[in-house]
Amino acid sequence: MPKIIDSLAALDEHTSTAPEQGRAVVMTMGALHPGHMSLVDTARELVGPAGEVMVTIFVNPLQFGANEDLDKYPRTFDDDVAMCEAAGVDVIFAPTPELMYPDGEAAITIQPGPLGALYEGAARPTHFAGVLTVVAKLLNLTKPNYAVYGEKDYQQLALIGRMARELNFDVEIVGSPTIREADGLALSSRNRYLDEEGRQAASEISTAIELAQQTARAGGTAEEIAATAQDHLAQFPALKVDYVVLTSNDLGDPPTSGSARLLVTAYVGSTRLLDNAEVVINSGS
Ligand code: AMP
Repeated sequence: MPKIIDSLAALDEHTSTAPEQGRAVVMTMGALHPGHMSLVDTARELVGPAGEVMVTIFVNPLQFGANEDLDKYPRTFDDDVAMCEAAGVDVIFAPTPELMYPDGEAAITIQPGPLGALYEGAARPTHFAGVLTVVAKLLNLTKPNYAVYGEKDYQQLALIGRMARELNFDVEIVGSPTIREADGLALSSRNRYLDEEGRQAASEISTAIELAQQTARAGGTAEEIAATAQDHLAQFPALKVDYVVLTSNDLGDPPTSGSARLLVTAYVGSTRLLDNAEVVINSGS
């Protein structure tokens, strides 16, 4: 059974010592699924059997916009603890909003800069400031050697890595691959909002990415690769595409050849679904 910590005093006492092999933390909003557990496995590989794997569970109000799903976001704490136990997690830190934001409003936040205004940041203007602020707080509180984040949220991973570098956090930020359902849909706590028809439409997002990868393998240009994904998604009225964009691996302009990233975000009803994958461009010569 993982040790469950829900006060700052207990966390302080816990982090006053650390195993020699180090501590790896996985930050989540709960409603855990096998995607989160793969991050736990990555964390365990980093610190080994004698190191410590900590999972934080906190639905961070600061990263939700006014009209978003904060109130209906799934909260499944008992199931989360059971999954953590089965995965060999050592410690769970599960604070309340009052513990994290004792003054109510956070007066001081971390601004993500220009990259935080693009893509997810364009649709959710305060989102990444909320994410970076809570990540910074949780890094300070949990004092890990490693912090593991999913490639599923690629822009988030990039921004957290950048924050850690630019603000000199003494931690290694590690990315971990996206875990998918058998039909390709990236696992997400929000998938449980989908009805059967929506679930069907959602799986076309990963199909669109696969088709774009085929276009890339056939020598397509950056424009052709993105258009392949766009054209596929346009066939499904249940999907409302927000953006399909091909970028460099650090989210700048795409290269003319070599490794790039295809980001796709679409709504099914009011559920926002994100996916992305590496695409290797072969058109440049
Ligand atoms: P969340 O609870 O949605 O905030 O996610 C917590 C962490 O799990 C983040 O680093 C996510 O990128 C990661 N994550 C969520 N879904 C997946 C997935 N399908 N595969 C891998 N990592 C994931």
